[in-house]
Amino acid sequence: MTKTYRNTIITTSAILLIALVVSLPAEAQRRGGGRAGGTGDCAGIVADYTDQLEMSPLSQGDIDGLNLMREEEKLARDVYLTLGERWSMPIFFNIARAEQRHMDRVLSVMDLYEITDPIIDDTVGVFVDQHLADLYTTLVDLGSQSLVDGLIVGATIEDLDIFDLNELIDIGTNDHMLFAWQNLVKGSRNHLRAFMSALTAQEGVYMPQYLDQETFDAILETDMERGVVYDANGEVLANCGGMGGGRGGRGNGQGGNGSGGGQGGQGGSGSGDCDGSGSGGNQGGPGSGDCDGSGNP
Ligand code: MN
Ligand code: MN
Repeated sequence: MTKTYRNTIITTSAILLIALVVSLPAEAQRRGGGRAGGTGDCAGIVADYTDQLEMSPLSQGDIDGLNLMREEEKLARDVYLTLGERWSMPIFFNIARAEQRHMDRVLSVMDLYEITDPIIDDTVGVFVDQHLADLYTTLVDLGSQSLVDGLIVGATIEDLDIFDLNELIDIGTNDHMLFAWQNLVKGSRNHLRAFMSALTAQEGVYMPQYLDQETFDAILETDMERGVVYDANGEVLANCGGMGGGRGGRGNGQGGNGSGGGQGGQGGSGSGDCDGSGSGGNQGGPGSGDCDGSGNP
């Protein structure tokens, strides 16, 4: 590895980290008045970790995986935006915001390795991958039939997403990618929990279509993973935020280093997280914050 190459890496990750560190407190304040309360210096730990990750050559399989996930995160975002409009339910918009961050996260890895972004047109519902384009239409049609169907579609997307990410983690060798996948799949597990909780509240039922029943049940039996950032091996790297609590109309988030901040809802429980993206449980449904705060936007 040449010196120039290495410098490029450091510069790139430094830019990503600066963006994270600068943006988090302001975001937290704007959203929920996040206050310090997490453990340790989350941003610093994540920054140090990111800095020591080595570049390693990507296989065609790695590139395919990045292309797939970049558009699969868009599929999730676009379906939730469309169903959010249809059902005026915050859970869809809240999780759509997390999906945008997931898209950004995948793009940051693609940029680092100078891979061309497959997304040329960011318009909702437009996909390069024909399978994803068809899936968008199918899922929006299904999810538009009733609110229960909409929540089932949410669970379906997260089911697919976790399945694909688990597979990428199983076969992956590149630490930048694994670091991204570990934290994306954490977010997806939280989204699945949120959709299933809202679905159960509506007396709806969903059976896994991609994950096996055992894996699916194990996720739902585990609490929301709030504030935690995983390393490339799936081990806990840092705890960045705490839980927010909805109180009346608007709750207070509580996050590490002032970087968390949940927004509580009417009687719901908010969840603050390290990227300040905690979302409230408006209208009784649980919100789902999602901590990507891994040093990448
Ligand atoms: Mn996602
Ligand atoms: Mn998701």
